[in-house]
Amino acid sequence: MKDTFKHKGLRQQLVAVLKDKGITNTAVLNAIGKIPRHLFMDSSFLDHAYQDKAFPIAADQTISQPYTVAFQTELMEVKKGDKVLEIGTGSGYQTAVLCDIGAKVYSIERQQELFKITSRFLPKLGYRAKKLIFGDGYKGLKEEAPFDSIIVTAGAPFVPNPLLAQLAIGGRLVIPVGNEVQTMTLFVRKGPKDFEKTEFGEFRFVPLLEDKN
Ligand code: SAH
Repeated sequence: MKDTFKHKGLRQQLVAVLKDKGITNTAVLNAIGKIPRHLFMDSSFLDHAYQDKAFPIAADQTISQPYTVAFQTELMEVKKGDKVLEIGTGSGYQTAVLCDIGAKVYSIERQQELFKITSRFLPKLGYRAKKLIFGDGYKGLKEEAPFDSIIVTAGAPFVPNPLLAQLAIGGRLVIPVGNEVQTMTLFVRKGPKDFEKTEFGEFRFVPLLEDKN
């Protein structure tokens, strides 16, 4: 698990690319400048780790493009100490970004293989989520609700009601909605039954799969 000057240099270049693309949140940019993304990928992808691109990880899944991670995290408006829920732990890179910003992170993954790999890997790097859960993200995590923000990192064919229900008042749900292509969508909970919806650009994610059980 090496992190060299070369990697650090490439990371700063990546941060510059993200700034160029319009990311301004300092905590998000600092996290991306700090976290060794190459260690979240297969070693064969070492040279690609700091390009602004998504890449394959285990179990036919992908590590999200850095711009997407930054864009979604910025929309969450995470503050230190916030309780946040992530659906789709995957490689754990987004989880690490949220931990670095100081959030208390709960993250759910439905692929057992990825859940196991990432549960072992994240603490080794010093990123301690409050809880990593093997389960179905469509249900959210009722026992820990309400959350200050919720991020879905897979393409959702529809907005799962439990996720809206588990937001605190003032809480924010960031979710890519759609089948082949998804529209990044933000829901802000204004009151018990009042949600403000804003749509952003188009993105492409692996699908949020319904529980097989
Ligand atoms: N945040 C991840 C992105 C991984 S891709 C990263 O930075 O690497 C999306 C992930 O969502 C995949 O790992 C996939 O297995 C997971 N996923 C798909 N459907 C899910 C569901 N219903 N519940 C929880 N996780 C799900």
